Amino acid sequence: MYFAFVSGNPALDLAATVGTRRSEPIDVLATPADLERWVARCDELPDHVTADSGTFQSALSLREALYHLALDRVLGRPFGREDLRIVNAAATGPLPAVELGNAGLRMSGDLVAALSHIARSGIALLADPHARIKECGRAECTRLYLDRSRGARRTWCGMDECGNRVKAAAYRTRRRTAERPACS
Ligand SMILES: [Zn+2]
Repeated sequence: MYFAFVSGNPALDLAATVGTRRSEPIDVLATPADLERWVARCDELPDHVTADSGTFQSALSLREALYHLALDRVLGRPFGREDLRIVNAAATGPLPAVELGNAGLRMSGDLVAALSHIARSGIALLADPHARIKECGRAECTRLYLDRSRGARRTWCGMDECGNRVKAAAYRTRRRTAERPACS
């Protein structure tokens, strides 16, 4: 199972658990256990939560609502009413507890609290008029990310996954063109 945390915000990272959304969507959260692993791997969330089928379904509906709202922002269109309702409702839940130690911040709480934290992060991001949310430059990828780079010049969700792939494909095309014998 491959989880990537490259979007710069847990709400966008959750949305990105479905890849290649416009062609053949790949969902890495197939079961409640996948969601438990995803939450444990996410730096900003509690290390251990348990998911049942109910909380799993809420997580998936929150994920889709966050994706739609972020895409609305990217495309400059108004937010969908139902998506707003889902995200705003999730944000009213209890929050994870935080604790400072020498290893840094430690967060604990259940899955509902984790989802509430994700919803609030998403709301803070989507309400920020200066946040530069972009879609990855590799068309099939469809991942949304927060561009924090200087001058907002980041083009890919990640160099390994997408940037290098696009560059390698462009190189192969150039080489093929160069090797083609001249027409006679
Ligand atoms: Zn990408």
